[in-house]
Amino acid sequence: MVERVFSGVQPTGNLHLGNYLGAIVNFVKLQQTYNCLYCVVDLHAITQGVDVWGGPAELARNTREVTAAFVASGIDPNKHIVFNQSQVPGHAELTWIFNCVARVGWLSRMTQFKEKAGKDRENASVGLYDYPVLMAADILLYRATHVPVGEDQKQHLELSRDIAQKFNNDFGASIHAHGYGDAFFPQPEPIIQGPATRVMSLRDGTKKMSKSEPSDYSRINLTDDADAIAQKIRKAKTDPEPLPSEEKGLEPRPEADNLVGIYAALKGASKAQVLSEFGGGQFSAFKGALVDLAVAKLGPIGAEMKRLTQDPVYIDSILAVGSARAQAIAAETMKAVKDIVGFVRR
Ligand code: ATP
Ligand code: MG
Repeated sequence: MVERVFSGVQPTGNLHLGNYLGAIVNFVKLQQTYNCLYCVVDLHAITQGVDVWGGPAELARNTREVTAAFVASGIDPNKHIVFNQSQVPGHAELTWIFNCVARVGWLSRMTQFKEKAGKDRENASVGLYDYPVLMAADILLYRATHVPVGEDQKQHLELSRDIAQKFNNDFGASIHAHGYGDAFFPQPEPIIQGPATRVMSLRDGTKKMSKSEPSDYSRINLTDDADAIAQKIRKAKTDPEPLPSEEKGLEPRPEADNLVGIYAALKGASKAQVLSEFGGGQFSAFKGALVDLAVAKLGPIGAEMKRLTQDPVYIDSILAVGSARAQAIAAETMKAVKDIVGFVRR
């Protein structure tokens, strides 16, 4: 089977440092060794309330902005496939088949649903509950073998593996009879790498930095200018102690751990290396260095994103070409899946 990378980012606005360090940085690296598909997952975005995804005009704007972020960060849309999910109908089609493979009990254990639905679970969309099945379909539609994600998506990746395995078992005889050997779908491997796989909110070290968090001070957006970055880092919550010299000293201090992890990831160093430089010092000096580093690394990406989004025709052409290439792979998978399940087709 071909080794293939798939991953996605939702166009829910406010792309932030967590998306960049937890996901996009790894997307860029993996281009060297794999064939990659990077998807703006617009079908996922509408699973949340319209107050979160912003309505039709915002959805289109954010779809183009995520595409621009991919390209500005160093993803090459000529060598790899960059597209938006809704242009390839197989994502929704395979989701339906997987809905009949996945079990209600599996979905009921998903923590992202519990967090996003909150107290008013009866009022959550059916789509939000089904989100992990759509994610399994995204990956397996391309029979992708590797999936770079942030730590928060680990549980969903496990569910994707369970769905792939149950499909392979349930249809084992048919898979064999159609010449696909013992397994049609691979077991996709998560790639969760680096010192910032779970970047936390700057206001609360126990909550993940998130696009859909109402407070803008909780996150650094990729489009923030130098002043905004400086202000947010200076205001970031810390404790009164100096920085520890050893990594172990970060364990009971989520805010310190988060800022050191961000610095390490931006610098391409380990947390231990960062502490050997800043350990024993006050936060004020460390925050100053973090501001300089963050502005130097994110400034050019934000500027390039702004430049690219001024040319929506160019962005839309990237998505159109990428979607056509994705569709060619997806169509092959869907033909095979239909044969395996027993759907009569043209
Ligand atoms: P939302 O709040 O709407 O779910 P999000 O910030 O979680 O938005 P997603 O589009 O759901 O963003 O996730 C895109 C990628 O970014 C995923 O691989 C996810 O694991 C990763 N990611 C999201 N937040 C963080 C974070 N705080 N730290 C590291 N990785 C993250
Ligand atoms: Mg998310």
